[in-house]
Amino acid sequence: MNNFEEYCTKFVQSVGNKEGAVSPAVINSASFAYDTPEIAEGIFDGSVKKPLYARMGNPTTAKLESIMADMDGGVAAVATSSGMGATTLACMSLLASGDEIISIGGLFGGTYALFSETLTRFGIKTRFFDVDDFKEIEEAINDNTKIIFLESVGNPNMKLPDIKRIAKIANDAGVILIIDNTITPLSISPLKLGADISVYSTTKIISGNASALGGCAVFRAVNDGEDKLKSPRYEFLAKFIKGAGKMALFANAKKRALRDFGMSANANASYQTMLGLETLPLRLSRITHSVEVVASTLSENGLNINHPCLKTHPHHNRYINDFKNGCGTLFTIDMGSKQRAFEFLNNTKLATLTANIGDNRTLALHMASTIYRDFDEETRKFLGITDGLIRISIGLENPQDIIDDFIQAHK
Ligand SMILES: *Cc1c(COP(=O)(O)O)cnc(C)c1O
Repeated sequence: MNNFEEYCTKFVQSVGNKEGAVSPAVINSASFAYDTPEIAEGIFDGSVKKPLYARMGNPTTAKLESIMADMDGGVAAVATSSGMGATTLACMSLLASGDEIISIGGLFGGTYALFSETLTRFGIKTRFFDVDDFKEIEEAINDNTKIIFLESVGNPNMKLPDIKRIAKIANDAGVILIIDNTITPLSISPLKLGADISVYSTTKIISGNASALGGCAVFRAVNDGEDKLKSPRYEFLAKFIKGAGKMALFANAKKRALRDFGMSANANASYQTMLGLETLPLRLSRITHSVEVVASTLSENGLNINHPCLKTHPHHNRYINDFKNGCGTLFTIDMGSKQRAFEFLNNTKLATLTANIGDNRTLALHMASTIYRDFDEETRKFLGITDGLIRISIGLENPQDIIDDFIQAHK
């Protein structure tokens, strides 16, 4: 069903070393010594490629970053302490007071809170749109718009965006498009579809084992000739384009966000993330298949399932045409009421109840009483959070075992 084969080769070959220790070295040092003052000067002016200080980079993390950059066809990547760290890094490197964000689809609770509350305290305004509000999105773009932000799959509303169409809107308007691709690594390649930056929470399916919090932002290369990044809208990038050329978006993120906000990844987390990354293609191809089997069988058995593999889903055609390798590990069940949802969660023997997603194990959580408990009625409605909504993230178990367990839990 999928074409993850190239990644199977790529990941194991690039994570493991061909000489000496096969497993990547974990360099646990906060600071790095410089041989001579001349080398120190070179490291600080960028002409010598050696570690400067762990907030700005670490050799173990650098290995993860180069694999992630290659995975998405980017020019470089910055690994961060969490997925929210990656989103914050990408956004804060581009924003100033008075700027605006256009946020489409989704939206992960932390990102929603960042945009709707935290950034407003710094004079940054976000306007939120549904994935198919194309006309409203186009009309909302103005001179202050610096970012269009999109999630590859609505979590937990399971809506799928028309990524190419939104990328065209962003590119025609000369605005940077950031895609949160946490749920669909490998299945969707944001930079190849026209985005400028992809961001990930590696905590989820990329690690898969709940052992390490982490994130990563991958940046596209700046074009030699014409490029929307060279317009007055992004005047602040000019000095980075002059100094770092193709790497300007990355250099800008390091200097204007990583250095000053310090959401840096640590070596242990980067190591654990690489161990997960090695088997990502295998796990993801199994799980995306299981998701379809479990979602459709449960739906046939009368459970109220939301997943675009179902013919009744409004984005079923988009799923078939644009999401040929699935749309990640999630689906939702609407149990109709909080009480029914709690009964189901108390009855399931297989699902682990946790706020995480993309784990090797099947996970479940009631949405309204947990992640979305602080959100008002109107926002919950916009985000598709009903009283009986349970989010499921399918794991590596035998799908038939999950089906049997969920059917008995539903009784
Ligand atoms: C979990 C998640 C994040 C945040 O990641 P953390 O590693 O928890 O900070 C961002 N976006 C999406 C879609 C997520 O699922």
